[in-house]
Parts: sequence; structure tokens; C-alpha cells
Amino acid sequence: MKSDVEIAQAAELKPIGEIAEQLGLSVDEYAPYGHDKAKISLSVLDRLADRPDGKLILCTAINPTAAGEGKTTTNVGLSMALNRIGAKTITTLREPSLGPVFGMKGGAAGGGYAQVVPMEDINLHFTGDFHAITSAHNLLAALLDNSLHQGNPLNINPKRVVWPRVLDMNDRALRNVVIGMGKVGDGVVRESGFEITVASEIMAALCLATSLEDLKERFGRMVVAYTYDKKPVTAADLEAPGAMALLMKDAIKPNLVQTLENTPAIIHGGPFANIAHGNNSIVATKTALKLADYVVTEAGFGADLGAEKFFDIVCPAGDLKPSAAVVVATVRALKLNGGKDKKELTNEDLFALGNGIVNLEQHLENLAKFGVPALVAINRFPSDTDAELDLVRQRCEALGVRVVLSEVFAKGGEGGEEMARAVVELCEQESSYRPLYDPSDELHSKIETIAREIYRADGVDLAPSAATQMGQIKADGYGELPVCMAKTQYSFSDDPTRLGAPRGFRITVRDLVVNAGAGFVVALTGDIMRMPGLPKVPAANGMDIADDGTITGLS
Ligand code: ADP
Ligand code: MG
Repeated sequence: MKSDVEIAQAAELKPIGEIAEQLGLSVDEYAPYGHDKAKISLSVLDRLADRPDGKLILCTAINPTAAGEGKTTTNVGLSMALNRIGAKTITTLREPSLGPVFGMKGGAAGGGYAQVVPMEDINLHFTGDFHAITSAHNLLAALLDNSLHQGNPLNINPKRVVWPRVLDMNDRALRNVVIGMGKVGDGVVRESGFEITVASEIMAALCLATSLEDLKERFGRMVVAYTYDKKPVTAADLEAPGAMALLMKDAIKPNLVQTLENTPAIIHGGPFANIAHGNNSIVATKTALKLADYVVTEAGFGADLGAEKFFDIVCPAGDLKPSAAVVVATVRALKLNGGKDKKELTNEDLFALGNGIVNLEQHLENLAKFGVPALVAINRFPSDTDAELDLVRQRCEALGVRVVLSEVFAKGGEGGEEMARAVVELCEQESSYRPLYDPSDELHSKIETIAREIYRADGVDLAPSAATQMGQIKADGYGELPVCMAKTQYSFSDDPTRLGAPRGFRITVRDLVVNAGAGFVVALTGDIMRMPGLPKVPAANGMDIADDGTITGLS
């Protein structure tokens, strides 16, 4: 089989104007960005305000292996398959970050015959949104350090600055830096650091904002530091929101591209799924819901993180009403969850698989708590045996959940028709979507609810610093924000080695961080990396571009 980039390069793309026209967009509602990408104007949302929304389908997954389980691939393939069976569908996705592209995971434009194109552009700088976010973020950092330098009128305690700088690169050497060294005119010396752009609060705010005005207001609320008497200092105090919004004037517009089968895809924003909420922008989803009858959107990591945040943070922020959820599972990841060695995942093992299915079962039980009908899509790998597939089917059907095979990686939309028909049927069922908790619940109780109901922990322990922070957060008036859990994606627990469906554990919250602009409080458990490093052999080492522009090694 050809590599992802070879398949993408062989695709015949339609001019983006044609895709836009098919969606009913007028020429002044989109701005082409080259031949095969376009920015969609937010005015579409006003024009179509009275049009009923399409059905919203969440694509989520079991707890993944390090390679990813194929959510993006399934998402893209499902949207192509839905279009094939006559259901007008748009896929909405996150924009890939350069960190994973050059690091370990590779790109995020799908795989095989289920990709969005032009995958090289989407995986590289795309339409510059991440650069705009990086610039807006670092503008705020520069304004803050300048304020410190110019006599510190806001009484900021340099030891309590909580706004780092960002860069869209995996670069561990920048995690901790000293800035302001040199002469008197070179600024105030203090310790700081860099985080990856996808971890920026601006990324999360962009994805939760419903308009440029809303985004600007979110900027204003962002807490960047604390004063010597521990009062929060915001971006508004630094008079930064106007200039930051200016840098975001194009980045707030969703990007239109197409799949390998020329069906429309809207790709916009890309917050981390651990310290942020891991879903594409609300404006992208809302635009898609106005332009299509079905919208398939992806939530990052497993359903314990991605789906929970989608239902508890994203849907309330965007007033979205999801109709159905597709849980992507692979036989190999289920075997891993059942104790199989990760080097032997291609060998048939019904025992390990049987043990690992408990992971899928817990995710299905959890989704039912949100009132959203779900089905399981097995992303098929060549090594899956019939006996293994039967076992997954039996166990899910015992819970009343339908299982479909997805072969979109190998066959494109054709390989997802059974899944597409099942999804249409699922959307006919009544969805009684409801979030798990009320944001006005007590902060500790919201964390406790997620930990007990979703992770099945026995309770939550706060480290001393987190307990202090909790008091401060409530005193500052941020206690009624929803909670964004930052937890390992590999386990329901906060210990990445406890696979399957662990029991008899507690969750330890190390620290709490207010993201008042994004509109949530991040509860940090375990060691969560906000600036990843590169692996021993980075994906970058295998990449090249020839004189004629042909790119190799991108996946
Ligand atoms: P996720 O969105 O869950 O992180 P992706 O869809 O990005 O996962 O897929 C992760 C990787 O696995 C990609 O490199 C993709 O090409 C590959 N992949 C996905 N599905 C299959 C499959 N059925 N067979 C082989 N490789 C696959
Ligand atoms: Mg993905």
C-alpha cells in the first residue's frame, strides 16, 4: 500500500471555489487561500441563523496506544461514507500542531484512503492560524514584561507571572528559561518558560469563542499574573485585548478544505486534549451545522478526556446538541488494555482482548450518562482475526450497543458505508444529551463527579498547593467555571500504566490553573507536559522535499 503522503499526492482536488459553491456559499462569504484552501466568513452564521442545524456526531475513542487509534481517519472516512449514501455531511477537525508532526505521532490529517487534503499544507503551516495565535500570545507576554520594566504600575509580582511564551514546536530546551538578562535597558530578570502553541490559552479561547467580539472579551479576562497582594492581573489590565484580537482577525475564520473524495471538511483550531479541551473551534462546528445535514467532529484522546470535555465544556459553550457518538476502537489497543505486550499486538489473543474490552465497556457506560446514543466502530487492521472481531461484537451487543467495522483506511468512503448507515439510524434515536454536572456546583465537587462517574475513582485528593489554589480561585470569583481535567490519556486513572478499567484508586490533583479567558479551571493530575520534547528518532529525520516540490516522509 502507498504511504499517506503518496495517496494524498495522487488525489485529484477540486478547486476550493467549487467546494464552497456546493455548500451554497456566495463568493463574498469565503476567501480562497491558494487553490485548494479557503477561509469562511463568520457572516455565514448570521445569514443562516434561522436554518435548522444538522445532526452533530462526536467521534471519540477508547484509551489509546501511543500511535493513536484512528479517530481522525474514522472521522474523515465516516464523512465520506455518509456523503456516498446521500447524507450531506461535513467533517470538522482540529488543525495539526508542528510539534507532533516532527516529533513522534506524525500528522493529523487522517490516514490511508481517509484523509483531508492538501495534507502537506494542513500538516505544515496551513493558513497561518497557529502563527497568529503564537503572535497574539507572545504580544501579551511582551506587554507584560514591558509593564514590569516600565516601573511596574500594576504592582505585578515577577515571581507570580503565569503567562509563559509559546512556540509551535516540540522543544524541551525551552521549558525553563531566564529572561531579561543583560543591561538595565534589557528588561526585568525573571524565570519563565515556553509552552507549545496548542497549549496556549488563546488556542482554547479561539476554539470556544462564538465571535471575534466574544474572543476579545475572553482575552480581556485572561489572568496573566498576580500582584504582590495576590490579586489577579488580566490582559485587560495590560490594555492588550484590542491588539491581540487584531492579530486574530483571519485566524478566527474557519478553514475550508476537502477530503480525498472531494467532500467538504472544515478544519479550525487545535487545543491540546489534556490541559485544554481537545476539540476544533465552535465557530467551525456551528458553520458546518448550518451548511450540512450531518457534521462529524473529533474529540482528542479517549472518551474519558475528549468526550467528557466535549459534553461538559464545548457543548454548553456553543449551545450544541449532539445527536450521536461513534466510539473508535481497535483490536490491537483493546489487547494492549488487556495486558498484551505492545510488541505482540498483531498476534491473535482472545484472552487479552477479552480482558481489554472492559475499557470499551466503561466508555460506553459513561457515554450513556450523557444521554447520547453511541455505536462502536472497529477501525480494522490487517492483523484483526474474525474470532477477535466476533468477541468485540458479542460483548458490546450485550450492552445493547451496535458494532460496525470501519475499513475506510484501506477503502475510503466505500469501506465505511455500513458505519454510515448505522450512524444515520442512530441519529434517528432520541438524544437526551445532558452535561454531567452543573457548572455552579462547588469546584471540588465537579472534580469529584468526573473522577467518580467517568474514571471510577474512589475519590479525589488535593495536593497542598492545589488546596491553596482552590481557595484562591473561589475567592477570585472563578469557582463557577467548568473543570478541564488534565490527565494521562492512557488510563482512566492518573497512572498511565493502569490500563483496562482500573478500580480501587484515587485521583490526585497536583495543581489548579484558572483559564478565565478560555472559561475553565484546569485540574492537573500526574505530570502533564505543556512543552513536549522530541523522541530519540524524530519523525523530522525521515522527511524531505525534492527540487520539484515533492514532499516525502510526512504521514
Ligand atoms: P487518532 O486521531 O486517533 O490519533 P489517526 O486517525 O491520526 O488517529 O491515526 C493514527 C495513525 O494510524 C495514522 O498514522 C494513521 O495513518 C494510522 N492508521 C489509522 N487507521 C489505520 C488502519 N486501519 N490501518 C493502518 N493504519 C491506520
Ligand atoms: Mg486525531
